[in-house]
Amino acid sequence: MHKSGLHYFGDWHTHPQSVPTPSGTDLSSMADLFSRSKHELIAFLMVIVGTEGFPDGLHVSVHEANAWSKLPSELAQ
Ligand SMILES: [Zn+2]
Repeated sequence: MHKSGLHYFGDWHTHPQSVPTPSGTDLSSMADLFSRSKHELIAFLMVIVGTEGFPDGLHVSVHEANAWSKLPSELAQ
């Protein structure tokens, strides 16, 4: 798919939590994906959808090899 112009830049999944927070596996997976993938991006994106409505039920964060940060909900709209 990369050859046809489609680039991986992140992932999304659901959590059975009202206000989702990334698990240790989520964080280590994103760091591993970022550092082991061949790309020219400054960060990968992770979205986690919880059971609460927006904005509390949506987690959006950016991930590098050794750092990550949650985007404020006003930027995730
Ligand atoms: Zn997760």
